[in-house]
Amino acid sequence: MPAEPPLPALRLTIDQESLAHNWRELDRLSGTARAGAAVKADGYGLGAVRVARVLQQAGCADFFVAHWSEAAELAKAVDPARIAVLHGPLTDADAAFAVALGLRPVINSLEQAARWIAAGGGPCDLMVDTGINRIGLGLGDLADPQVSRLDIEVLHSHLAAAEDDSPLNAVQLARWTEARALVSHRRAALANSAGIMLGAAYHGDLTRPGLALYGGVPCAALQHTIRQVAYPEAALMQVRQIAAGESVGYNATFVADRSMRIGVISLGYADGYLRCWSGKGAMQAGGARLPVLGRVSMDMTVIDLSAAPDLREGDWVTADYALPEAAALSGLSQYELLTLLGRRFAR
Ligand SMILES: *Cc1c(COP(=O)(O)O)cnc(C)c1O
Repeated sequence: MPAEPPLPALRLTIDQESLAHNWRELDRLSGTARAGAAVKADGYGLGAVRVARVLQQAGCADFFVAHWSEAAELAKAVDPARIAVLHGPLTDADAAFAVALGLRPVINSLEQAARWIAAGGGPCDLMVDTGINRIGLGLGDLADPQVSRLDIEVLHSHLAAAEDDSPLNAVQLARWTEARALVSHRRAALANSAGIMLGAAYHGDLTRPGLALYGGVPCAALQHTIRQVAYPEAALMQVRQIAAGESVGYNATFVADRSMRIGVISLGYADGYLRCWSGKGAMQAGGARLPVLGRVSMDMTVIDLSAAPDLREGDWVTADYALPEAAALSGLSQYELLTLLGRRFAR
């Protein structure tokens, strides 16, 4: 047996207390509805199984993934009957897999409804498209006899612009309300993270926050409620002194104007710390701010250690990664900042 590889000099620290706090707050803000959790894309990059365990402890019972492979992974931690698969059964193999594992597909079209019934059916969810024009049945499809044969646990729709003060929100609310009257179902859901803040009319029985669980702040109303959860950290691989006039990194985009102590960390664009952070990002260590110098490379980034003269090789630094601020600085969305964090992080 080969030995386990040693831990990488790169880790994503998850503040489990803040994750649980964010869910509890979103559940409270959901009023009489219960908050579930969108844990697709591997829990927005943080590790779906791990995130789900923390959220279950906090009281969360309903989980949403996009792909069947994600559901299979999540079923290690969550009752399959409480996992809804948003993309639905795209093939007969998907439907058979759902039946075998006891997962709940979200039916998105009349074709999917027919496929699910043919596979033996069972409890499922239904997605109604009320204006995002992505996936889901239209209101006009709801009278189809296939729909009345479904055993619908949750009737969903999804808001296109919940984080904006958009007239589309009220239009979607009205169509979702109409759909609820047309189709029998046990529970109804409409709101994502930002949708929760649109008020009680948008809550139904269940809400589906994702981003805000993980520290994202989609709208100002959540600014003082949501806490940061994910902290990318890397160890110093090397420390060196450079003289005035020397450059750092590819294409020599940073040139020192004085003698400087610099550090190299094992975090690069292949880990999702993209080149947009070149000359812009910063790390923190013991309260000192350590700016990124020059270009971010594939596996490494160079930082200025002037503010932390005691740091040594092997010491850890933490990237500035508070999502609203990081999004404003990098030009990436808060969703992208989380989901692009790579596989080399120890989680
Ligand atoms: C991803 C997703 C969510 C979560 O949205 P956030 O904006 O991350 O809160 C909710 N519902 C559906 C259908 C989704 O696809």
